[in-house]
Amino acid sequence: MGKKEAVSAQTSQDKRLSTMFGVARILATQESLGIMAPRLLASLVDTLDAADAGLLLLYDAARGGLRVAAGSGYAVESLKDLCFLPGESISGKAFQTGAAHLYRTPAETAAAMRDVSAANRDILRAATLGVAEPLSAIAIPLIAGETKVGVLMLENLRQPASFAPADLEFIQAVGDLIALSLNSARLRQDLTETQAISEANRLKADVISILAHEMRTPLTSIKGYSTALLMDEIAFNPETQREFLQIIDEECDVLQDLIRDLLESSVIDAGLLKLELQPVKLERLTAEAMEDVARRSRQHRLLADFSPDFPLVEADPERITQVLRNLLDNAVKYSPAGGLIVVRGQAQAGEVIVSVADQGVGIAPDDLNRLFERFFRVQSGQHIVGSGLGLPIARTIIESHGGRIWAESQLGHGSTFYFTLPRRRVEQGGEEP
Ligand code: ADP
Repeated sequence: MGKKEAVSAQTSQDKRLSTMFGVARILATQESLGIMAPRLLASLVDTLDAADAGLLLLYDAARGGLRVAAGSGYAVESLKDLCFLPGESISGKAFQTGAAHLYRTPAETAAAMRDVSAANRDILRAATLGVAEPLSAIAIPLIAGETKVGVLMLENLRQPASFAPADLEFIQAVGDLIALSLNSARLRQDLTETQAISEANRLKADVISILAHEMRTPLTSIKGYSTALLMDEIAFNPETQREFLQIIDEECDVLQDLIRDLLESSVIDAGLLKLELQPVKLERLTAEAMEDVARRSRQHRLLADFSPDFPLVEADPERITQVLRNLLDNAVKYSPAGGLIVVRGQAQAGEVIVSVADQGVGIAPDDLNRLFERFFRVQSGQHIVGSGLGLPIARTIIESHGGRIWAESQLGHGSTFYFTLPRRRVEQGGEEP
């Protein structure tokens, strides 16, 4: 080998190495197909002198053809409807035969593209801005094991014979690497979807077993007191009878809440939570929720404190009432009789903040971070019936209004739950009272 050829061989060796590095670096990111494909193609066209344009096509089983995942040197957005059947055009042939093809002259590329459908031809004409067929091209099938993933096509629109037969082997090696990675990216995507389905199924099983367990306590109590009241041999005095009925009534409420949480959670899971937004007066919703809670538990003192400038907010009144009810119910459930519960409303520049503060058992810092997870319930000595779904539901409702919800607490010294709602929409609409 003369000195000149040796230098040129060295240069092409360096080029190949840097091309391979470029590709490997992109594949190592393990990004999604949609992100990796354009980067790969841009890197190849950039580092390979022989190519000034290219297409990365992936097989779409639903359409039964090759569709463009990335293009360089083309108006890519015009290519979204392009679909080459196996055997059609340069890329369809590489895909069908599973073999790399080298097209050295314009006549060769034109011959390979003679069978392009009229629809695809129109799309190509628009995407290449009128340029006819490439003057030389190389098409590499992307095959991972048994799976045909797609085709990598590199072209030269200005120069015939730009690719040498020796390039074929190297580009096929690059193609093999790309095929393996793209295939595993596809498998990863499928796996994530399968995992999501099995996680959803596991959650459903959890819901049923947790709720069945939680329902047992109030049911046992209802059954016990009603059986006692029905016993002919014992005559309870009216006061005791009333007390028993009162307990039965309360336990029915507990059951009703569990069922409501369950239904609500399944509505949210199915993506069916629809908000009906309208200007609402949170003070009024709070007063109603408080009355409702007070009817059910007369052992706590409830107080509302809204600032005089508290504005109307655009919200779904039914859903926000549900959040207020849940926070108030929890405040009652997790604080001793006689405790004070205060709902406060404050207006700030872009949002309103509502807080529900109690003087109850409080929440440890580690548990505070997990309160809004589904089924999370603080483990404590005394068992209080609950679904562990109330706060996650509240969070979904508040966040779908564009607000935030969080809690602050000190173990043994009560808890305060906060939520915000944006105030912009109503004011823009000029609906202030
Ligand atoms: P549930 O009350 O049905 O268990 P939630 O999702 O409403 O479900 O609440 C989750 C957990 O958060 C409760 O089990 C309880 O341990 C804790 N928690 C909620 N609110 C309070 C509160 N005001 N004070 C103390 N702990 C609370």
